Amino acid sequence: MLDVILLGTGGMMPLPKRFLTSLYVELEGKAIVVDCGEGTQVAMRRADCKMSRVELLLVTHFHADHISGLPGLLLSLGNGGKTGKLVIAGPRGLRRIVEALTIICPGLPFEVEIREIDTREPSSFEFGGEADKSKNHANTPIFEITCLPMRHRIACLGYFLELKRPPVFDPERAKELEIPVKFYRTLHSGEAVTLPDGRVITTSMVTKGERKPVKIGYCTDSAPFSAIADFAHEADLFICEGMYADDAMRERMEDKKHMLFSDAAKLAKSANVRELWLTHFSPAELNPKDGLSAVRKIFANTVVPFDGYRKELIK
Ligand SMILES: [Zn+2]
Ligand SMILES: [Zn+2]
Repeated sequence: MLDVILLGTGGMMPLPKRFLTSLYVELEGKAIVVDCGEGTQVAMRRADCKMSRVELLLVTHFHADHISGLPGLLLSLGNGGKTGKLVIAGPRGLRRIVEALTIICPGLPFEVEIREIDTREPSSFEFGGEADKSKNHANTPIFEITCLPMRHRIACLGYFLELKRPPVFDPERAKELEIPVKFYRTLHSGEAVTLPDGRVITTSMVTKGERKPVKIGYCTDSAPFSAIADFAHEADLFICEGMYADDAMRERMEDKKHMLFSDAAKLAKSANVRELWLTHFSPAELNPKDGLSAVRKIFANTVVPFDGYRKELIK
């Protein structure tokens, strides 16, 4: 089960009825959070997210609406029972920022590992894939996380999370090979088994077909540019900034390096994504849903989500 929750939809500052933009992704008890502006831990509680499960925090950039909630979030993770390591990844300079912000939350009950990412060119890293003792030592799922430098006033990264999906276990093939049923679970989890008759059966002998990875894109804050669409190509879900619904606001935004609803929709269309969720609404954008019909003329499968909007990408 791959659960995706958009914790907040606001940009710049939290409002009484709108949390700041932040994303929570959970799969098999491991969670990733992207961005943590002021109040993110409150939004997580409201959306019923499990604090103890967060293992990776991705930070897009060091504007307050994306990072100032860090101390509160870390304290809440600790209060929520987290004891395992937390990896925090973000643009170069992250260590300095985290060290400064965590002066006010010393003595956390978990280790924090900081990973600084180059913002001059795209890069990627893997997250997950370690042996899970609770599940017969099968490897946990692997996310390939691609980081694309955005075009913002300061160094900023867009993230593309791709969940690699192992081929499907095929019981028919297992039956043909006369493998006792008691070994199915181990094979299903990706491990080879040695049968009582001495044969070694690997998973590739009992699986069929490669499956397309599940892909989620998260891009805010940036001026629009074509590489975003290249990297979001055929994403199952593309979460993208849309500060204003009205194209007339472009003049006002030009020097701020942000996107309009129509910019996000054009990127979604050219990337041929399955679904677009707009986010990072300006505090001046009081009723973002009013812009929905116009933006759907550009990209039909656009959603103007509310805080806590969620979807199960894999059942
Ligand atoms: Zn922002
Ligand atoms: Zn910003």
